[in-house]
Amino acid sequence: MNEQEKDRIQQAFKEKMDYDELMNCTRCGFCLPSCPTYIETGQNEVHSPRGRIALMKGLVDGVIEPSEEVKRSIDMCLGCRACEPVCPSGVQFGHLLEQARDAIYQTNKQSLVEKATRSVAFKQLFPHQNRMQRTTSLIGWYQRSGLQKIAHKMKLIQLVPKDLRTMEKVLPEVPKRQEMKQRPTEVAAIMPRRKRVAFFSGCLMDTMFLKTNEATIKLLQYAGCDIVIPKTQACCGALHGHSGERELAKEMAKRNIQAFDDEEVDYIITNAGGCGAFLHDYDYLLQDDPTWQERAATFSNKIKDISSILVDLQFDEVDMNLDDQIVTYQDSCHLKNGQKTFMEPRKLIEAIDGVTYVEMNDASRCCGSAGIYNIIESEMSMQILDYKMEQAKQTAAKTIVTANPGCLLQMKLGIEREGLSDSVQAVHLVDFLLEAYERAHERVTTS
Ligand code: SF4
Ligand code: SF4
Repeated sequence: MNEQEKDRIQQAFKEKMDYDELMNCTRCGFCLPSCPTYIETGQNEVHSPRGRIALMKGLVDGVIEPSEEVKRSIDMCLGCRACEPVCPSGVQFGHLLEQARDAIYQTNKQSLVEKATRSVAFKQLFPHQNRMQRTTSLIGWYQRSGLQKIAHKMKLIQLVPKDLRTMEKVLPEVPKRQEMKQRPTEVAAIMPRRKRVAFFSGCLMDTMFLKTNEATIKLLQYAGCDIVIPKTQACCGALHGHSGERELAKEMAKRNIQAFDDEEVDYIITNAGGCGAFLHDYDYLLQDDPTWQERAATFSNKIKDISSILVDLQFDEVDMNLDDQIVTYQDSCHLKNGQKTFMEPRKLIEAIDGVTYVEMNDASRCCGSAGIYNIIESEMSMQILDYKMEQAKQTAAKTIVTANPGCLLQMKLGIEREGLSDSVQAVHLVDFLLEAYERAHERVTTS
């Protein structure tokens, strides 16, 4: 880092950080035992919430200089927000992290490759759903055309870096582009109507995880919901917000608020913990924008996770059954720490006949997925995943249920790494519930 770059970063920290929030930290250290990176680095304060806050404040106060070590500390944070619920001062660490990353990534010098990668991902791909469809359908083609089998047979896959190679194995079967484009904008309740809701379909969820989105809609229909799915909605912007692209995240937020503005609905339903938490936070993201502030607050107040509305509608009292099996649940950090939703998924799983629910030790500790963390901070991510899999194995569960696509892939990756693919599966909560419901009611899933 040269002197000019240091000056720019320091200035950005002064402008972008919420100083009052930094001051809220009393340095009590209650958050330390909840922080996965603090634990996995052998209790290194630099990689703890308290240490990170001290570094951010030191930069704003001008008592420390920006350095690679400071950047490393901010980069290494999972953004899991496990430090928030345990903090007696109520420090909103997730907000501080977003501001710090924005300060660094909008000012630091990036290599051409890094610049190009960020531009493609954040500007060219995620904000454009048609491009997401095209890109993910290429993966589907690779899977269906036989190319995947050939790549494995001829060991061409060995040319791909190891972590991406393992990830490739656990990707879901990606549907054809045509299937992605067939989504209706309104779906009526199957059971007597009790609510009218909107569905936030997401970007990756509506392409790579289309089957889970279809299952979500079907469950809502069975629970007595009329559903609207606005066509103009976009990616939630979480990836942008968590990666130092706050202005782009605000653009995504405005697009989504606009898309749902005219819908007379009780709730906006999400099925991905990470997206849900970010949507829930739009009021904070746009708090300084007088034109959008009120609309953002109305939007945020309507966000509800699928598990939460299902419990509200007593779906845990309907008949559901599956083969006898032990099941455990891996919390989505953002569903738990952002949306405070953690009992509802457990309640629904426990309501299924045939399921013996066993709680995993440290179920709410991050699995190491954290957006794209498992790709860009692979070593730490795998260290965290190994711990998670040890806890999962102790439950003897045949099924690990999660409520976020990133966690789902990470759990599948963990199962693959442990060589447990023949005996253990990871599934999204809604896929699990739909199967249990339709089995009990002898219905066949159709999309
Ligand atoms: S628990 Fe809260 S106040 Fe205490 S050190 Fe951690 S962030 Fe600061
Ligand atoms: S967000 Fe997670 S990884 Fe980051 S400081 Fe908080 S607990 Fe640690």
